[in-house]
Amino acid sequence: MPSQIVNALVLILLAAGIAIPVGYFVVPWAGWAVFCAGLGLQMLFNFRNFARLDRWSQRPIVDPSLEGEGAWDGIFGRLYRHEKDLRTQISDRDDQIERLFAALQALTDGVVSLDLNHQIIYCNTTAEDQLGLVSETDRGQPIINLVRQPEFVAYLEGCDFERPLTLRSDRGADRVLSIHVVPYAGNRRLMQIKDVTQSDRLDRMRRDFVANVSHELRTPLTVLAGFLETLQEIELDRDDQRRYLDMMAEQSKRMESIVQDLLTLSSIESAPPPNNDLVDMSNLIDKLRRDGEALSGGRHTIVAETDGQCDLRGSEPELVSAFGNLVANAVRYTPAGGTVRIEWKVTPQGAEFSVEDTGIGIEAKHIPRLTERFYRVDRGRSRDAGGTGLGLAIVKHSLNRHQAQLDIKSAPGIGSRFAAKFPATRLARV
Ligand code: ADP
Repeated sequence: MPSQIVNALVLILLAAGIAIPVGYFVVPWAGWAVFCAGLGLQMLFNFRNFARLDRWSQRPIVDPSLEGEGAWDGIFGRLYRHEKDLRTQISDRDDQIERLFAALQALTDGVVSLDLNHQIIYCNTTAEDQLGLVSETDRGQPIINLVRQPEFVAYLEGCDFERPLTLRSDRGADRVLSIHVVPYAGNRRLMQIKDVTQSDRLDRMRRDFVANVSHELRTPLTVLAGFLETLQEIELDRDDQRRYLDMMAEQSKRMESIVQDLLTLSSIESAPPPNNDLVDMSNLIDKLRRDGEALSGGRHTIVAETDGQCDLRGSEPELVSAFGNLVANAVRYTPAGGTVRIEWKVTPQGAEFSVEDTGIGIEAKHIPRLTERFYRVDRGRSRDAGGTGLGLAIVKHSLNRHQAQLDIKSAPGIGSRFAAKFPATRLARV
């Protein structure tokens, strides 16, 4: 039996125990009066504590001084402990939820939680940035009212979430997102959003590269096959035969150059960081001048200048090939009578190797794309000049491996300047 009831019965019995002798030995009404007074006192005591409990229940606080009287003290004590435990549990749970939200915010992938009607329950900052959402105002809104790209709407409404959706964002930044929806907690959906822009670009580059290589090799191959067929089927005189064979040799040389450049590119791509050989720049510049003159065959003026204060550290064959490409381009894209200036000089940031020409120049719109594989301003002209479209890609790659930057300045009809800027860490004072 609860202690409060036992206490109440004891008090009633006590009042009766005093009232009965008084009523028997004195007068009966006095006995009743004592009994009623006892009950009244007990009721008053209970009402007082009841009123305190009522006040507390309307605004429960964790207050260690919360005390009842008599048996009520136990009730107040238990309520106090209960309230305290409850508040500790709530605050622990709040901490856990806060940590969970902090973890979701820290994710580099976007996360959006949706209800059955695609209304946003929660979204992290990455998702806000990826989809252009604003958590505070967009919560409770159907996401398809905010991201209206038809493929996105169709994906959500189609409810077939076996495969992720690849979405090209229409928000300007040329972003590609991979969106995966996972059902959870019955009828809710968790949307995971990965930014796959980089891997998509690499994929596209790989596909374009294979297509370009096939195309570049197919053209001379087709020409070769055509000539072979002609030689097999038609009786030609000696002169025509000679002419055809020369043209075939030219095509096979072209294929050889493409394959050679592809091999160079792939070998520098997979090679370990370049050696730190000491490259004698005076010698190298002199060799480049002589190679340029040989290629020009006396049609250009080739000038070489070295300030002689420092040499370069790096892989000599790679640097020779990169600088040689720049000189060869300057000669090939400069009409006869023009000048090519090869220069090596110390700068405040490090040192600079440059090749400047008075050639055909390049329109500004082409400059950012010149180092892409197989990119040419004028395909026919490049082919006639014996180019493969891979030269500047090789140059850029080799320079990157030496922490150098390629700076291109050009004006159509005036000329071009290609400069490789090396950091001071790559230099050796002479
Ligand atoms: P290519 O083998 O065709 O020369 P590159 O990668 O070396 O390929 O160069 C890419 C393109 O950049 C060339 O096709 C040409 O249009 C342009 N280019 C490179 N160097 C020069 C230059 N010195 N003057 C004018 N155009 C140039």
